Amino acid sequence: MKILICDEIDKEATEELKKLGDVEIGREKLNKNILEYDCIIVRSATKITRDIIERSKNLKIIARAGVGLDNIDVGAAKEKNIKVINAPDSLTVSVSELVFGSLLCLMRKICDANNSMKEGRWEKKKFEGIEIYKKNFGIIGFGRIGKRVASIANAFNANVFAYDPLITDEKIYKNLNVKKSELDEILSECDIISLHVPLTNETKDMINEKNIRLMKKNAIIINTSRGGIINEKALIDALKNKRIAGACIDVFENEPNINPEFRNLDNVVLTPHLGSATKEAQKRAGMDIVNQIKNFFFKI
Ligand code: NAD
Repeated sequence: MKILICDEIDKEATEELKKLGDVEIGREKLNKNILEYDCIIVRSATKITRDIIERSKNLKIIARAGVGLDNIDVGAAKEKNIKVINAPDSLTVSVSELVFGSLLCLMRKICDANNSMKEGRWEKKKFEGIEIYKKNFGIIGFGRIGKRVASIANAFNANVFAYDPLITDEKIYKNLNVKKSELDEILSECDIISLHVPLTNETKDMINEKNIRLMKKNAIIINTSRGGIINEKALIDALKNKRIAGACIDVFENEPNINPEFRNLDNVVLTPHLGSATKEAQKRAGMDIVNQIKNFFFKI
């Protein structure tokens, strides 16, 4: 069996794959005219397009060591009866923890204070922050990550709201001490808004100029979901003109070449798509897809 690993995955998972067949590593191997891999593994950086799928003669499985399938042409794979798998549960904890790491950095000015200290200053007054406690905390997309973020927000004693038209069972909200809400209510009532929806035709530009206008002046928005869910031009304008208070952004429309205007803003915390970048999450994601591949090819 021939396996191509396009984006680096956990070492132990790579070793397990080597026991299953011939493993090649490197996205550039996708440039060959004819691809003879039985299995292709990606994370978020490699795009598996229709063209790649059509040049693949033996492909049986495409595995995404992560959540979401937006970098894989699932329709083209289906037409050729190629199975597409991912590891949906593996990254929930890491993404949720990053939400609060970035949020505290912004609200308590931790990164700025750290930079100032390292430059030799002691600027206690300059770095007065704000608390999460008792703030209205809105979650858009109440799936795996949205629910975990809700639990953590509740531990901070925030008032938690969630909007998800596909989760209609009131009990799910009640059990997690969350107010089931509409999108407009979250936009207009919440001090902190965190996005946890997939990138789809419906969620593209979900946070646009019109919706940003509904937000409070003190609002902070967090995007650890996907670039494109917030319209970046509208966000940058709002942050520049202080129409909203701040943003924590982990994902961008054009990664890694982000809109340079982000760098000039003093009210953002930027991270380079680090949501899933923990040792534990990468191990879980890698081993999860290895187990699915073993099961698919060898029924073990
Ligand atoms: P999930 O599928 O469990 O939850 C997504 C939720 O969004 C679902 O409950 C769905 O009903 C809801 N939803 C879909 N369309 C909606 C809409 N128009 N309005 C409101 N809600 C809508 O997924 P998850 O595991 O919670 O992950 C969420 C997203 O996080 C993923 O799709 C992925 O894009 C992103 N993610 C990012 C990183 C990172 O490194 N930053 C890592 C993992 C996941």
